[in-house]
Amino acid sequence: MTKHFQVIVCGARCAGAPLAMLLARKGMRVLLVDRDPLPSDSLNGHLVKPAGTARLAAWGLLDKVLRAGTPALRRRRLEVDTQVVESALDDGSYPMVAPRRSVLDAILLEAAVSAGVQVEDRTTVRGPKWDSGRVSGIRLSGRGGAERVVTAPVVTGADGRHSTIARGVGAEIYDAAPSLTAAYWAYWAGVDHSAVAVRYRGGSMSGVFPTNAGQVLAFVAVPAGDRKRFHGDIAAGYRNALFEFDGVEAMFASATRESRVLGMAHLPNYFRRSHGPGWALAGDAGHHKDPLVARGISDAFRDADALAVAVEDGLAAGPRALDRALASYAAGRDAACAGVYRHNLALAADDHQDPARTLELVRRLSDAEAQADLRFPAPSTHPLVAPLPGAAVPGSPSRLEKQ
Ligand SMILES: Cc1cc2nc3c(=O)[nH]c(=O)nc-3n(C[C@H](O)[C@H](O)[C@H](O)COP(=O)(O)OP(=O)(O)OC[C@H]3O[C@@H](n4cnc5c(N)ncnc54)[C@H](O)[C@@H]3O)c2cc1C
Repeated sequence: MTKHFQVIVCGARCAGAPLAMLLARKGMRVLLVDRDPLPSDSLNGHLVKPAGTARLAAWGLLDKVLRAGTPALRRRRLEVDTQVVESALDDGSYPMVAPRRSVLDAILLEAAVSAGVQVEDRTTVRGPKWDSGRVSGIRLSGRGGAERVVTAPVVTGADGRHSTIARGVGAEIYDAAPSLTAAYWAYWAGVDHSAVAVRYRGGSMSGVFPTNAGQVLAFVAVPAGDRKRFHGDIAAGYRNALFEFDGVEAMFASATRESRVLGMAHLPNYFRRSHGPGWALAGDAGHHKDPLVARGISDAFRDADALAVAVEDGLAAGPRALDRALASYAAGRDAACAGVYRHNLALAADDHQDPARTLELVRRLSDAEAQADLRFPAPSTHPLVAPLPGAAVPGSPSRLEKQ
């Protein structure tokens, strides 16, 4: 086992696995640690927007996702009360995809391993190791339980909302808002559905996304205060909430539910300081928003791309330059995410009683997403991958905003 690492990445899913992969592809010695057995499913949604799909393509991984039987989604149907808006992505642009996390996370992990990353799963990070005011490694324990230390000049926390690294370095939270919604979802077979369908009505939202194995993910998001409707019998609460939307009961008339009903009520909104001496945060560890906008995965991919560039630039130039590069990465993350965050909060807080207002909030959020997609960095292109002909690559230099 290699003992001398240049980077330790804590957390091996949407943020951590591609970050480790990109660093290893740059020739660095990387340790990737996760406490889960990998690969495995994860209690999350999984719609990947075109900005995220573009990165999968640039990394040489989109083909693998599609070959795993994940449908390419180009049509979107939005219903706000009785108003219906249908839209389609151009043939030349990247599609949306909604791979099960067991599929997506396995592909990301395999790519990291192929790039030379050393992976330790079922291994818990206990906290950072400090040396003269800098993070210089981590304390961790594996299946045997004994704590040991591994050192590296950079430690990245891609360890999700309850990040141990964030807690260990004392990363402050800012621009926070409490959980505004609670989400409930299940997988169904026998639903004829080729589009991403999103519905808003009476304070609630529902989404239906086609995923692997001919199934759809159907979820409902209700105001946080309505959680009690699901207490006692989560399956009945979910079914009632889903079928309150016009036409949904008929659409699911001959469908069978293929999974238990899952739920998540802790959906906080925050930014966390994401850089410091020898450390940085990526993905949900550094920023989380209500999943209404379905953008956490695409943002985690963007973090991976940007942080890999910052670490490469900084490591070569010494500790001070490294800290400056990590600070610049975190400032870029905040700038790219601020607009989407603000408009997503406004939509999550809306009671959807006025269809015109809900439509306007949806339009503003979608404009903010388009703006965020124009911001740096462009996806790191794997040398073996040609871009999709005519595809608009989010953040590509020709479309960069003047800062
Ligand atoms: C209900 C719900 C629906 C969502 N729907 C969507 C959607 O449709 N589209 C979308 O883009 N986003 C969606 N999101 C958001 C998206 O899932 C997240 O933003 C994304 O998974 C973040 O990835 P991550 O790698 O940062 O964190 P995570 O996926 O949380 O991974 C963190 C990893 O760190 C590991 N870890 C944590 N602590 C330790 C430790 N101490 N030691 C070792 N390992 C540790 C964990 O085991 C885990 O594997 C949704 C989220 C929720 C909750």
